Amino acid sequence: MFTRFAPSPTGYLHRGHILSALFVFAAADIYKCRVRLRIEDHDQSRAREAYVKSIPEDLARFGFTFDSYSIQSARQNVYQKYFDMLSAKGLTYRCNCSRKKLFEENPVNNEGEVIYQGHCLANPPSENEPAAIRFKTPNETIAWNDLLLGEFSENPYEQCGDMVLKDRIGQWTYQFAVVCDDFEEDISLVVRGEDIRNSTARQIALSRALGRENPPQYLHHPLLYASTGKKLSKREHDVSVRAELESNSPEKLLAAICTEVGLTTATELTLQQAIDIVKPTIAKHKFLILNSEF
Ligand SMILES: [Zn+2]
Repeated sequence: MFTRFAPSPTGYLHRGHILSALFVFAAADIYKCRVRLRIEDHDQSRAREAYVKSIPEDLARFGFTFDSYSIQSARQNVYQKYFDMLSAKGLTYRCNCSRKKLFEENPVNNEGEVIYQGHCLANPPSENEPAAIRFKTPNETIAWNDLLLGEFSENPYEQCGDMVLKDRIGQWTYQFAVVCDDFEEDISLVVRGEDIRNSTARQIALSRALGRENPPQYLHHPLLYASTGKKLSKREHDVSVRAELESNSPEKLLAAICTEVGLTTATELTLQQAIDIVKPTIAKHKFLILNSEF
């Protein structure tokens, strides 16, 4: 069994990434998974080579070891293969709606995303115009069981309408690339932050359309807040661990991260000690279903 840690190379790793990696490795210990490292550089306009290089280096400083390494930009042929498969099934269509038009003509969901109503399915743009490619999202309810948060029942079509697979400049979208990657890399457990939870039903729908009979299990960990009330995320916590490691040992930094979210008062932690400290936060909620699921 495999799970994965999948950062985007749009900046140096910060404390929130390390905490997220601790969750992935804690879940991997509980569920007996190996862990793959995937660099998610699908958005080439934001990815930077320096961070592609720094991410594995910084993770290694803490002692994280991975079963495999992959990077999305080296996997274009895989995305194309799955995309061609969906197109051959008649499940894709071109859309040239501008951003302005999208927001004018469609409702938006609670996250501010457009719920696309299918304008270009009914009114196909001409072949000469640059266009994004959308997936005919099935209009059906998908039930899934989050290993931490419990049961969900969601209709991805109601959440976002027909989702974009490829944008108009030819970049694969996060949703599409991730589903292809998880299929291709045989990921059976996805551990990630709660802020991505509402992508799950659409990813399961896409996964099924690609022919994956058993989509991954999902575990969304809580977004932990620092004692200052700040979320540990790259947007709000921009000090890199690379900079912090200049004046701190990895053991001190691991302890500081776990202290910041109230999990310990230790001043130094080995990687395994930090993973062991995170484990109960995953296990205490819905632990009983684990054995029956795996
Ligand atoms: Zn359109």
